[in-house]
Amino acid sequence: MDSLRALARRVDALPLWVLPLALGVAVIFVPQALGDYSIQRQMQLSLILCLLVSGLNLSLGYAGELALGQVAMFAGGAYAAGLLSTYGHTDIVLQLLVAGLVAVAVGIITGVPGLRLNSWSLAMTSFFLVLLLPDVISIFKEETGGRNGLVTMHRGTLLGEPVKGDAYFVVIAVVTLLWFVVMRNIIVSRHGTALRVLKQSPVLAQSVGISVFRMKLLAYALGSVPAGLAGALFANLDLFLSPEAFSFTYATTILAASIVGGSASVYGAVVGAVILQFGLNQSSDYTRYSLVITGSFLLICGVLLPGGLASLARAGWRRLVGRREVDMAAVRALSTGLPKIAGQSLRVEQVTKSFGGNRALAEVDLEARPGRVTALIGPNGSGKTTLLNVVCGFYRPDAGAIHLGNVRIDRMAPHRVARAGVTRTFQTPNIPPGITVLEAVIAGRYMTRRVSMIEAVLRLPRFWRVRREDEVEAWRALDLVGIAETAYLEATSLPLGQRRLLEVARCLVARPGLLLLDEVASGLDEDEVARLRGLIRRVADAGATVLLVEHNFQLVLDLADEIVALAHGSVMARGTPEQIANDPRVLSEYLGVEPSRDDGEASVLSRLMSDSITGGDK
Ligand code: ADP
Ligand code: MG
Repeated sequence: MDSLRALARRVDALPLWVLPLALGVAVIFVPQALGDYSIQRQMQLSLILCLLVSGLNLSLGYAGELALGQVAMFAGGAYAAGLLSTYGHTDIVLQLLVAGLVAVAVGIITGVPGLRLNSWSLAMTSFFLVLLLPDVISIFKEETGGRNGLVTMHRGTLLGEPVKGDAYFVVIAVVTLLWFVVMRNIIVSRHGTALRVLKQSPVLAQSVGISVFRMKLLAYALGSVPAGLAGALFANLDLFLSPEAFSFTYATTILAASIVGGSASVYGAVVGAVILQFGLNQSSDYTRYSLVITGSFLLICGVLLPGGLASLARAGWRRLVGRREVDMAAVRALSTGLPKIAGQSLRVEQVTKSFGGNRALAEVDLEARPGRVTALIGPNGSGKTTLLNVVCGFYRPDAGAIHLGNVRIDRMAPHRVARAGVTRTFQTPNIPPGITVLEAVIAGRYMTRRVSMIEAVLRLPRFWRVRREDEVEAWRALDLVGIAETAYLEATSLPLGQRRLLEVARCLVARPGLLLLDEVASGLDEDEVARLRGLIRRVADAGATVLLVEHNFQLVLDLADEIVALAHGSVMARGTPEQIANDPRVLSEYLGVEPSRDDGEASVLSRLMSDSITGGDK
């Protein structure tokens, strides 16, 4: 067991691409070595299915869009290649290119209406599209041959030479391999993390500067590319296309392969596709039972194995390799303390927001300045979180204006507000599953320096530079909030207090002009609160504007330069901590304390202190 673990660790330490590349090369040569025609054909079909499944994984597994239109894009690519071939354009590279473009066009045309609405409407539009497909193909009988099939294709060529037999197998394998390199490089980049963040929580995604619509569309368009490639490869396989190949049954096969392999996985697509392709073919009466078989696969894996074989393999591997320890000395060596932050002033003027008849905010004025901690207090339901949501752009105010520096932000989309420099934590920590603490913090860097998809796919120098910066900043932030030793753990496995600190770290890596903290101290133990207090002070001293919503009154008194007290959506009082601590209305409304005439300031404060111990609960 120990030697096995040692071996596993050594494999784990290899660069991430070594194993997949070895597998890919094996795929190219093994079937040729076997020389068995039927196995070779099964493998060709498996590779084509792999491409289709990987596209579905991008949109369904990573971006969380239930889009079943893969078959339509597949058909688009196949007929594009088929028609090119019919008219004498037999070059396979040209066909792959055109088929990819046609598939993206089909994907976007069919995807956009659904994306604008919600994921169910996308599921429905794509579902009907697949059902209608054979009829649509038949309508263009002249060109496609209708139900009789397209039989007029010519043998595909590369550099003018016809490609067939083993050579064509290599073409399919190489195209698939290249696509998987592209897909993997996207997933293992900030764009991949952005997709996972988006799937878990559009709210969180926007708060780190991700445009939800753009990202979903991108995932959907990217997911169409391999479907188009698969189409062109399929068309050249038999030089024959008929509508039956693009049936509803095949759509369910793709879905089943995705679920079996694990849809949030790059290599799960390969495993799922191979299982489904070889599994289905073992059934003697293939066409009759295939729907039943794929249906059973879907049900069994959906119920017993959420996350598919990939998540099972991942968990097993993690157990084998064992827990990865953080080298704290190395982390300390990176620490530099807080760099200067360019704080931006926040000006909220006469902001009103109602939900139905419920007036959550009524003509609220508030100003927060760089280098200062402004605290917002008030009983539950007084509108504190609503005010943060209005500032972030999640809610549009009914009246009033909000300025960040000189920029008016109350008309901006949330991701634009984030990019303008506003970061926040959430009253209920918002942390995506399936990523480590370190990755969750790096997600906060999304709005800082941009790295294009192309740079990520080709791993250009800029990609590596930004990636290194992202990691260094994330380690520093984790060290500042005091949870660096958890960096390699799954983020959602942390206890509440540490999840809050993680959110603070996620904000810090963005070097926020304005930092919004929503009840960030509740659920923290005493040590953590003490550390947080020091940290917030230092963040403000470094230049940031801090707006702190907090129930822990002692923390507020210690930290705030100015306190604004809300009640029923209106500002009830504002002033320095001393002024607020002595304001009779604040004391009675907010804390339920009735100060008697002969109570001195000191005794009120001491009562506040004991209150603050329970004040954090909600
Ligand atoms: P606090 O954070 O001070 O506890 P909130 O800002 O969460 O208070 O809530 C203020 C009021 O606005 C409450 O009455 C709450 O029910 C209402 N409210 C907040 N968000 C929504 C929403 N999305 N839809 C309807 N009502 C809301
Ligand atoms: Mg709240």
